[in-house]
Amino acid sequence: MKTAMNFINGKWVSSKTNQFADNTNPATGELLGRVIQSDQSDVNAAVLAAKEAQKQWRLVPAPQRAEILFRIGAMLKDQKEQLSQMLTLEMGKVIDEARGEVQEAIDMAFYMAGEGRRLFGHTTPSELGSKFAMSVREPIGVVGIITPWNFPIAIASWKAFPAIAAGNTIIWKPATETPFLAEAFVKIFEEAGLPDGVVNLVYGTGLEVGSAIVEHPHIQVISFTGSNEVGRTIAERGGKLLKRVSLEMGGKNAVIVMDDADLDLAIDGIVWSAFGTSGQRCTACSRIIVHRKVKTELENRLIERMRSLKIGNGLDETVQIGPVIHEQALDRIHNYVEIGKREGAKLLVGGRKLSNRSLAGGNYYAPTLFTDVSPSMRIAKEEIFGPVTSLIPVDSLEEAVDVNNNVSYGLSSSIFTKNVNKVFQALRDLDTGIVYVNTGTTGAEIHLPFGGTKETGNGHRDSGLAALDVFTEWKSIYIDY
Ligand code: NAP
Repeated sequence: MKTAMNFINGKWVSSKTNQFADNTNPATGELLGRVIQSDQSDVNAAVLAAKEAQKQWRLVPAPQRAEILFRIGAMLKDQKEQLSQMLTLEMGKVIDEARGEVQEAIDMAFYMAGEGRRLFGHTTPSELGSKFAMSVREPIGVVGIITPWNFPIAIASWKAFPAIAAGNTIIWKPATETPFLAEAFVKIFEEAGLPDGVVNLVYGTGLEVGSAIVEHPHIQVISFTGSNEVGRTIAERGGKLLKRVSLEMGGKNAVIVMDDADLDLAIDGIVWSAFGTSGQRCTACSRIIVHRKVKTELENRLIERMRSLKIGNGLDETVQIGPVIHEQALDRIHNYVEIGKREGAKLLVGGRKLSNRSLAGGNYYAPTLFTDVSPSMRIAKEEIFGPVTSLIPVDSLEEAVDVNNNVSYGLSSSIFTKNVNKVFQALRDLDTGIVYVNTGTTGAEIHLPFGGTKETGNGHRDSGLAALDVFTEWKSIYIDY
């Protein structure tokens, strides 16, 4: 049985709490190992190390910092299959999706290694003679990174790589559900030659370790991805301390299917976006806004496709839908299905926990489709974070856009149509941070900003060049000559 320990100042260490949490495989219920539960004093030790290390790390020329990211990218590439297997074992997503996620971390390492060599500032003509004006990006200091379990390596890489490339040092608290992947990731940082104290890993609960990170006076930036409930408290606490707080939170993403859409394409996009990772993606398609003229055909074909999906342990290459993360998630998802039924939505497929012999011990929920859902129902407005989606019929693009925009979240949306005018109208009017055309709501690449409008975030972005804005401070410089 494995035991995951903290990594502080270049050493793998325990905590004086000497308490551990069990970690289990969501596909089987089998115990995978245990993880140390740290407290405030471990966070203090990590911050001290990070603060000290940052004094030197910020002076390392940016191209040399970037070179370490190249090495990390190459090591991730070499270990891609092991990391993917570990991801599936620990978190449950099917192996092909796990490979896709590890690939995102590889891409992000190489992308940020490239950007790290540039880290461009600006020179600007001065209003006055004999004056030279320029601005440069400076690191901020010690960064606290708090991540969820659903993309345990991709999201950590979106945050850690730009933070490090820019000359910051980090304290990372991964989700309790995914400790061993975090350990493997940090071992790569260690082996790539990152100086002691630049990356520190502290395990523990959000309440204990997460709070200690958010409130620590020497952590200047908090980069958080997770639920709105937790994000709000971090915004309040971090805001009071005048920290920079970057929040990436939930979604209620919609696929719009117009009457001229290629339905084969739309069904592929919907199935992948709604049921991939068992719907546990911030970008999951949890609403299908469909033109009334094609509603019945789409319904029938979706039902047929959903009935053919193979559910099971994601390590089996033929399985298409894995388990959800834990039993509480199963209960929460099922509760939403009950709410949908009570609200008058018509259940077409699924709507139940699965527990036949081959799925025994795992947390499986049947891919679920509701129809005749009205935009005001709770299942059409709240994030479910499971394999449940709803058909909402509309009569026009304008109505579809209104329905899409009339939720509190604004992460991702998609439209299926062959009409170029409708595409451009949708691109203009859909109020989400990411818009897809003729593909589902998921599958962002690392070279563009990732994040959402409204209550999905607070204006910051992960990945792409925009990620550097979270982890750098602009310094303006004037030289009189
Ligand atoms: P979560 O419960 O909010 O947890 C996220 C992280 O915050 C975990 O590491 C958690 O620690 C920690 N945490 C919990 N309470 C805390 C507190 N009081 N102070 C500081 N940290 C605290 O979210 P989740 O269930 O892991 O992830 C699902 C959510 O993430 C969904 O809403 C999903 O939409 C969102 N998400 C958003 C994006 C995006 O980019 N927009 C991407 C992926 C996921 P523990 O380990 O103790 O739980």
